[in-house]
Amino acid sequence: MTEHDPLPPFARAVIDRDAGRRTAPGFESSFDADPASRVLFVHGDRVLLAEQVDGSAPALELRRPSAAPAGDLRIYLGRDPRFAYEARVVDDDTAAALEPEAARWQGLRAVATAVDALDAGLFVEALALANWHAAHGFCPRCGSTTTPGQAGWVRRCDRDDALLFPRTDPAVIMLVTDDHDRLLLGSNALWEQRRFSLLAGFVEPGESLEEAVVREIAEEAGIAVDRVEYRASQPWPFPASLMLGFAARVAPGADPATATPDGEEILELRWFTRDELADAWGGVLLPGATSIARWLIEQWYGGPVETAPQEPDRAPAVAERSGT
Ligand SMILES: [Zn+2]
Repeated sequence: MTEHDPLPPFARAVIDRDAGRRTAPGFESSFDADPASRVLFVHGDRVLLAEQVDGSAPALELRRPSAAPAGDLRIYLGRDPRFAYEARVVDDDTAAALEPEAARWQGLRAVATAVDALDAGLFVEALALANWHAAHGFCPRCGSTTTPGQAGWVRRCDRDDALLFPRTDPAVIMLVTDDHDRLLLGSNALWEQRRFSLLAGFVEPGESLEEAVVREIAEEAGIAVDRVEYRASQPWPFPASLMLGFAARVAPGADPATATPDGEEILELRWFTRDELADAWGGVLLPGATSIARWLIEQWYGGPVETAPQEPDRAPAVAERSGT
């Protein structure tokens, strides 16, 4: 058993976001003139990977600005000691001209644990911003069109000059245990049978994170919890979530056996000891390697667990909400 990863997979960013430069006058021309500038390309929810030579590890394709098409949108991501990084969002034609081979364009969940921490962080940041831009073409106050500004970190209303800032939707995800340190896992109605994960849900307006944890568990499992403790978070840009990981304990006097699935979102609930979880791997599918659910489960378990071959990573159903 190896030591548990200290950080969830999408929370490994090593970049300085260099926010001060976003508002600098003439940012785009200074970026293009800087020999240390590098550009990566986002098309839909995919990023362009570099050609792999001699079994090299997957990595983002990074080009000098002079070798990069302008794209529909430019987003300054920040810098490290070597380079300054910008994402360019490109349309179908530009993507095909850049690289026609589909295998070179990959989604975040497919490559996040294969690329290094720098590339994973750049992709997460770029995708989160690109998703926000895609959903905010119109001003929520007056309905007019909006235009990107400040190196991709705001949109400005074309009629009333109101500034829109990037948003992220907080969702809580819970490691619920009982007094025997058994773990509660649920199977979501949107998943295939046999897939189990932690309970999760969006934070509602006017609610604290701790309140959201208690409410979601009551709604989805019909059981009272307390001793709510924050554990870790990671961005989950599918399209715009921030997953906040908590632990919670079944409240004194509440009987774990009375946990009951809500029948809508959650169809089945099961309590697992560590041994039962290890034994169950053959029959139970767990959340994918990039999810904070998996990270929290392995934190409780005490290390990584060997799993049967399974399908590609799935997002928690909560994070698949569209139209946010
Ligand atoms: Zn407006």
